[in-house]
Amino acid sequence: MDIAANLKKIKEELGEATLVAVSKTKPKEDIQAAYDAGQRVFGENKAREMEGKAEALPDDIQWHMIGHLQSNKVKYIAPFVSLIHSVDKLKLLKEINKRAKQNERVIDVLLQIHIAKEESKFGMDEEEVRELLQSDAYKKFENIRVVGLMGMATLTEHQDQIKSEFSYLNSLFQQIKDAYFSDKESFKVLSMGMSGDYKIALSCGSTMVRIGSAIFGEREYH
Ligand SMILES: *Cc1c(COP(=O)(O)O)cnc(C)c1O
Repeated sequence: MDIAANLKKIKEELGEATLVAVSKTKPKEDIQAAYDAGQRVFGENKAREMEGKAEALPDDIQWHMIGHLQSNKVKYIAPFVSLIHSVDKLKLLKEINKRAKQNERVIDVLLQIHIAKEESKFGMDEEEVRELLQSDAYKKFENIRVVGLMGMATLTEHQDQIKSEFSYLNSLFQQIKDAYFSDKESFKVLSMGMSGDYKIALSCGSTMVRIGSAIFGEREYH
């Protein structure tokens, strides 16, 4: 795998969108190679794995939590995490707010929306996200900042299906922005697109793509 060459090729296709290099399961050497090629934003899906890598790798890396996060794991990443993409419950947001406060910081988060057909993918529906944003509990959080939405499309060959899911997420993003964040410039992140579907995501308005295997090669799970 020529990590630097893969990064260069992908970067050329992205325009203004931010690239999160998804390094889950990959060794530190691979992350260092991407870092040496100029990449600074990396995505992991396990709190302890991210914590270990953050300790061992350069301080100016921005670590993004992209995977499902259990409340009891928030404490491991709260001191340093740069963005959490996968908030799907008020309870989790409450824990992130608490841990951010303990660390005397504000943690940026995205609300994860369920857009895929598969049952297994996490995330809220439109009604749940509105309910969360209207709740009194949410309004009291001082140590979190909601900066956008994230979603994962169905794993399918049908491009039309993927396109309609991403288009839906973009329209929901605009509606949520108008309804709850019209005075907040910080609400501007639409995280959608992975190795197999990032080009479609970009055509549907993605501002942040999460790409792993197209940079680092296929993952092996042990
Ligand atoms: C693993 C993962 C990715 C990256 O997947 P690739 O297909 O390897 O690009 C993106 N987003 C999330 C939430 C993931 O878990």
